Amino acid sequence: MYQMVYRTTVFMLALCLSIPVWSGEGMWLPIHLDSLNHKDMKEKGLMLDAVEIFSNTHPSLKDAIVMFGNGCTGELISAEGLIVTNYHCGYSRIQSHSTVENNLLADGFWAQANPEELPNPGLTATFLVHMERVTGSVLTGIPDSLNETDRNNLINQRIEVIRKEAVSDTFLHAEIKPFYFGREYYLFVYETYPDVRLVGAPAETIGRFGGDEDNWMWPRHTGDFALFRIYADKNNRPADYSQDNVPFTPRKYLNISLGGVQEGDYTMVMGYPGRTDQYLTSDALEMITGKSLPAKIAIRTVRRNALETVMEQSPELRLKYISKYVSLSNSWKKWIGVVKGIRQSHALEAKIRQEEDFRNWAGKLTSDPACYASLLGDFSIIYDELEPMFLAGDLGAEILNSLETSRIVNDVHDRFFATMDSSKSAKLSAIGNIKSQGNAFFRTEAVAIDRNTLPGMLEVYMKYTDSIYHPAFKRQIADDFHGNYAAFIESVFDESIFTDSVKYRKAFSMSESKIRKKIMNDPLISIYRDFSELLVPIIYGRLDSMNRKLNGMYRRYVSGLMEMKAGKTCYPDANFTMRLTYGKVEGYEPADAVNYSYYTTFDGILEKEKLEIADYKVPEDFKTERTDSIPASYLTDGRVPVCFIASNHTSGGNSGSPVLNAKGDLIGINFDRNWEGTMSDYAYNPDICRNISLDVRYMLFVIDQVANADWILNELTLTNQ
Ligand code: ASP
Repeated sequence: MYQMVYRTTVFMLALCLSIPVWSGEGMWLPIHLDSLNHKDMKEKGLMLDAVEIFSNTHPSLKDAIVMFGNGCTGELISAEGLIVTNYHCGYSRIQSHSTVENNLLADGFWAQANPEELPNPGLTATFLVHMERVTGSVLTGIPDSLNETDRNNLINQRIEVIRKEAVSDTFLHAEIKPFYFGREYYLFVYETYPDVRLVGAPAETIGRFGGDEDNWMWPRHTGDFALFRIYADKNNRPADYSQDNVPFTPRKYLNISLGGVQEGDYTMVMGYPGRTDQYLTSDALEMITGKSLPAKIAIRTVRRNALETVMEQSPELRLKYISKYVSLSNSWKKWIGVVKGIRQSHALEAKIRQEEDFRNWAGKLTSDPACYASLLGDFSIIYDELEPMFLAGDLGAEILNSLETSRIVNDVHDRFFATMDSSKSAKLSAIGNIKSQGNAFFRTEAVAIDRNTLPGMLEVYMKYTDSIYHPAFKRQIADDFHGNYAAFIESVFDESIFTDSVKYRKAFSMSESKIRKKIMNDPLISIYRDFSELLVPIIYGRLDSMNRKLNGMYRRYVSGLMEMKAGKTCYPDANFTMRLTYGKVEGYEPADAVNYSYYTTFDGILEKEKLEIADYKVPEDFKTERTDSIPASYLTDGRVPVCFIASNHTSGGNSGSPVLNAKGDLIGINFDRNWEGTMSDYAYNPDICRNISLDVRYMLFVIDQVANADWILNELTLTNQ
């Protein structure tokens, strides 16, 4: 009981913090460190000045950090452009260089010298050059009373002007993003390097050790790192891949600390958290974590099972589908953790209590021009109306986006009808393209996967959504198939031209009018059409306008919270802009009588070995590794440390982020959160939210003792503190 009350009390402080609580909560904008956080950070152990962490003008830690691709973070660790990020962030790239004969996932990869480093078309590393608050220029003169659509139009026009001005006559690019639902705006100027090459990655048995079973879990033993290098032209400028490019020279790179971590040590993480929804009201939290996520978990369970069946058939198929499987499993498992964490920590109840406080506060205002007193009631009304639409839209999108056949069905439909009024040769060329798309498509397992998954996915959709949002074919399932989804899908797949290569080729060799008829009457097309006709014009359009309205209401709500908690600092939701979070190394208690230590060691890898499960295969060398042959600098208490946890408030996108000590040296590579703690995207709880990091000493051990890559070690700057 005590525990529950304590947890709840801490919770009430969430979002708007009077800084002295050491909770680790908050994803802070680094531009405000000096004024908001620095004093507190110093008290907690930081030994740097704010400008050493973030500066628009002087080299600072920010210059050693990149947005890696479009969803991860990476950091510079050498003067020659070497970046470390997570293995899972580079996974699809490593996969793309792999074949069954030369399988980099299975064997690992270590370039012996620069020319052997592997290019990755489309992969970029982006530096934040400059960040600035531009709220005044964006919002001045816009009255609060303006409706959201007109407000947005006006703001977008202004943003365009400021954005262009910020980077005119440069190779840089800029974006302006809203914070606190458009209460504030910030400008970000970036420089993107498009030539990023793979330097080294351990085998999957290290980089993905524990696989999906261990994903989002503590204790963890995953060597989740990979090395890449940024290349630039001879003037150190961004340049597309060319053999003439040279390793990039950074303004700043990170020293790597061999000093290790102790419980209670100060830590901070800088990087690009993608999205959090900390300010959602209890109605919204309930809708998402009580309804939408459980349904999406069920849909993804169906898909995972189907992909597993395909991957078990051969090594080629495993290699072909593993990246897709890993990525869909990642959210699937995270959502399970979110639902569990929200329930376990009574987050919904805490939100309801916080709303009670807000209502009481607002009710006592002598003047309430922003109508705070009625705001939460208005939220409830709008969420009542929105929920059935939201569920249908969310689950519909989850199904349509996941179907393997949807791409070809849509492409063929659109391509064919787009050429209806064109010349004969244009039509012939479109048909030619349609046929070759079919040739490639029928070499995949798409049809088998969808045939397997559609019945289960449709059943989940119908179960969780209101019948007014059921697609037209539901009636056919009831009338003609006695509610048997599998029989319905069997018949659709037996008849469709998109599920049989012979039928497909034959259909597109017919006359134009016959093709047209075939497409119009195709049962698979008609499933997609029924769904799209429901989702696109009816649901998405309405959701869009409701979301705009909600955005304005949340802007008011955040303003109200800030007024209510005057003197406390509120941090903005993550939106894939650079943030800093600070906390300390600490374990946690996941359940009654269970106490998790803050670090794991090499011994745990050996303990977890399961010969029959690929994800728990231990590299042979590890089994004979003798501690006395391992350099002492990689050891703690005679053992190689592997991962550690800390109370830094991180999110998706923080993968690959540097975990820094009080001096700003690299002690870990952030790669995950504990399962119960994934709910921190909605509500942070200092008792159970932990970020999981790879200990840099394990990374060094792998580079040194497994890869024997001295030339890489020689590039690094190691410190003893
Ligand atoms: N594993 C996450 C990522 O891939 C990190 C997190 O959500 O904590 O970005």
